[in-house]
Amino acid sequence: MSQALQGSYLLEAATIDRVVTERLPGAYVLGHKRTGGIFRVSFVGRAEANLNVRLKQQAEMNAYSAFMFQYCTNPQEAFEAECKVFHTFAPADNKAHPTRPPSFDWKCPNCKMFG
Ligand SMILES: [Zn+2]
Repeated sequence: MSQALQGSYLLEAATIDRVVTERLPGAYVLGHKRTGGIFRVSFVGRAEANLNVRLKQQAEMNAYSAFMFQYCTNPQEAFEAECKVFHTFAPADNKAHPTRPPSFDWKCPNCKMFG
């Protein structure tokens, strides 16, 4: 996983369609842009199938105004990217560690929760 988060961008459907053009899994962060353009990370999530669709679902909920994202090549990579952001930023709106699908043995790269 060499790619870094891109953005931030306005969390609205038109912007999502303009910048998230690949139909790929990925990880994303949601938050608000503060005065001076500083992006405050409030939430991290992932899309196991299509980042574009997932972000538009989030935009419809109107809870955040900006997002950053990174593409991943498969769902496990998206999970690992989500975990890294979770441990790096400890986003305020993530009440619990990212979860994995029950039948998979994916491991968090940053802790022993799924060791
Ligand atoms: Zn972890």
